Amino acid sequence: MFDGFVDRVDIEVEAGDGGDGAVSFHREKYVAAGGPDGGDGGKGGDIVFLVDDNLNTLVDFRYKRKFKAERGENGQGARKFGKSADDLIVRVPRGTVVIERQSGRIIADMSGSEPTVIAKGGRGGRGNAHFATPTRQIPRFAKPGFRGQHLDLRLELKLLADVGLVGFPNVGKSTLISVVSAARPKIANYHFTTLTPNLGVVKISEGNSFVMADIPGLIEGASEGVGLGHEFLRHVERCRLILHIVDVSGSEGRDPISDFEIINRELANFSEELANAPQIVAANKCDMADEAQISAFREYIEGRGIPFFAISAATTMGTAELMNFTYQRLKDLPPLKVFEPDPEPLWQEAEASGAEFSVTVEDGVYFVEADWLEDVLRMADMDDYESLQHFQLVLKSSGIIDELERRGIEEGDTVSVCGYEFDYVR
Ligand code: GDP
Ligand code: MG
Repeated sequence: MFDGFVDRVDIEVEAGDGGDGAVSFHREKYVAAGGPDGGDGGKGGDIVFLVDDNLNTLVDFRYKRKFKAERGENGQGARKFGKSADDLIVRVPRGTVVIERQSGRIIADMSGSEPTVIAKGGRGGRGNAHFATPTRQIPRFAKPGFRGQHLDLRLELKLLADVGLVGFPNVGKSTLISVVSAARPKIANYHFTTLTPNLGVVKISEGNSFVMADIPGLIEGASEGVGLGHEFLRHVERCRLILHIVDVSGSEGRDPISDFEIINRELANFSEELANAPQIVAANKCDMADEAQISAFREYIEGRGIPFFAISAATTMGTAELMNFTYQRLKDLPPLKVFEPDPEPLWQEAEASGAEFSVTVEDGVYFVEADWLEDVLRMADMDDYESLQHFQLVLKSSGIIDELERRGIEEGDTVSVCGYEFDYVR
């Protein structure tokens, strides 16, 4: 029976929209026409992911797939800013890789403990207090808040284990992890007993340990998606070392050498990195095997320059030596693989050409409005030179600059892009 282990889900996240700016005028007894004093809207809440070590599957996301942060409050009179919304915290198991579904871009690898902003809330719109100019003293408008970022995500759980156990079903992987760690996986004499990867901490001595993952049995064709194997191969992707368990007794009527080769082929079909990952081979069930079987297999493996251990997980014969050797070997290997996030794509100039926008001129201020420009602005850091340059390129290639010129804009005039004001410079 499938026990609900879920290691891949699709979800939707929506950061909060910014609150709207307020339209308001200063009122006081005996003061006839007060100036504009509408405050800015508050920022929408971010979607923030946080590792929770009490979680070890993505199963909760089966039942809740949509996450929406609150919008910022609207601004008010007397230049009162709207309150920014709280961030929405989403808890995930350690090792969750967050991928943008459409592009396949990695947004974050939740392996560390730092909270990570996955989708940004929209900025608040500006209140009318910002829009007074010498010729426009009564601005009867304010700006709406910016939209929060909406993303379709795929979450993939890639376990953080130093050592991944691989091998055919029933070779004794679960038995081994149960005798060398405190993990207590199900052990039974039938295939696919292990449907949930089990993580076990192997303690060598005080303060010296490593994490081993019991990966469910691979079967032939696993890398082509036959059976469950493929699903679980993702879990060994990060492992620093593969501990390959083979039933040397041939108790299931198979041949150890061909078992070994089949599993390696499956790993190679899945990824080159897995094919090249360092391995240690453990010939298990030696209590049931005869000497000739063991030495023939040993010769084959050692002939390939791969460290070989003869063990019996059930009787713990040779398991301590195997764990000590594994620990020593890990010392020379690079740390666990962490996936680097891909950079957020900038709005391409090419995309900007042909994109729609509107320009209105009111009291000498040039108002530019476009939905897509909000996205550009959200990503732009106006204090950053490169970012600003990119922004200007987008304004140019979209035809906005030409349109402003056509409408007679001059050096020093004010341009308001989605509520953000700039001095026009040629
Ligand atoms: P897995 O599918 O690779 O996790 O295999 P299990 O650990 O569930 O073991 C499958 C069967 O092999 C169980 O019946 C175990 O008791 C048995 N087994 C595991 N290790 C040994 C061993 O060293 N000697 C013998 N004789 N049986 C073993
Ligand atoms: Mg098992």
